[in-house]
Amino acid sequence: PLVLGVESSCDETGVGLVRGTTLLGHAVASSVEEHVRFGGVVPEVASRAHLEAMVPTLDRACAEAGVRLRDVDAIAVTSGPGLAGALLVGVGAAKALGIALDRPVYAVNHLAAHVAVDILEHGPLPTPTMALLVSGGHTNLLLVRDIASDIQSLGTTIDDAAGEAFDKVARVLGLPYPGGPHIDRAARDGTPSIRFPRGLTSGRDMERHRYDFSFSGLKTAVIRWVQATERAGEGVPVADVAASFQEAVADVLTRKAVLACREHDVHDMVLGGGVAANSRIRGLIEQRCAEAGIRLRVPRPGLCTDNGAMVAALGAQVLRAGQDPSPADFPADSSLPVEQVRG
Ligand code: ATP
Ligand code: MG
Ligand code: FE
Repeated sequence: PLVLGVESSCDETGVGLVRGTTLLGHAVASSVEEHVRFGGVVPEVASRAHLEAMVPTLDRACAEAGVRLRDVDAIAVTSGPGLAGALLVGVGAAKALGIALDRPVYAVNHLAAHVAVDILEHGPLPTPTMALLVSGGHTNLLLVRDIASDIQSLGTTIDDAAGEAFDKVARVLGLPYPGGPHIDRAARDGTPSIRFPRGLTSGRDMERHRYDFSFSGLKTAVIRWVQATERAGEGVPVADVAASFQEAVADVLTRKAVLACREHDVHDMVLGGGVAANSRIRGLIEQRCAEAGIRLRVPRPGLCTDNGAMVAALGAQVLRAGQDPSPADFPADSSLPVEQVRG
């Protein structure tokens, strides 16, 4: 069946078309530029941008895939988690398409979709697969036994998401929003010479928060270090601070992900989410997975950030599992739990 996927949980309007495990085409419109001057996503601005972008993005995706709307057999849509108003635009669009085309609609989880997208790149997920999901709003370590029905959350952040930490530290260093790519670039000219804290890795924390993450202490440490340097009348070595911060994030993420694989006897890992674009995180996880005998899968960057193809990819898996469509009045759920694959 031909599955159309709709994504609108944050600041990207995405539509994708998938048949089985094949991506036929997708289109994304981002409102990130409109949020730059606020230094973060403004929910009302994002919702309005989704409204304006939805139909043109739908048209572009169909054109790219070379299909007509009436060829679509089923519709999948992100119903959560995400910004409530933003989600409603995609959910409304999906319901309208479902009624107009007389096709079933499947509400799915945005985070599971971030994992499912890799099926389009590297084929079916081995069972089980460990997923490390790192984005602007989320940081999750997931044990995936069945992408359509069985996702177990092993750990998450207890404060800031990884991408959020990148964005906040970038601001401290005077780099533009969104800061992740700028830190990545700046770090290339620096060395990780400053030892910043690795949150939740000490003995006691490893008992209570074995697979959890914390980035707010790291962020505070970077801010203090920068302020102390400025007070001393010295110039801030932006490249070195960026490299040192990035090293701390990459170290903790990859260390805990590999540990989780070892302790659950898992030999396959997917890295996903917008922060997966980070060159040091990619490099270090490749190295540590290779050392541990774990096969690593990372979707191309354009499929790691929010998009509609990932929603269609998960929709195709849900259909394949023979699950029922969602009821006509299914809601958007801004805090849909990560373990709930269906919205
Ligand atoms: P979510 O998917 O959690 O709802 P989101 O839309 O903000 O939220 P993504 O679009 O997946 O998430 O990713 C955006 C985040 O990725 C931003 O925080 C951005 O700074 C970060 N990011 C992008 N490229 C890089 C990079 N090279 N290094 C580090 N972070 C990066
Ligand atoms: Mg985004
Ligand atoms: Fe996302």
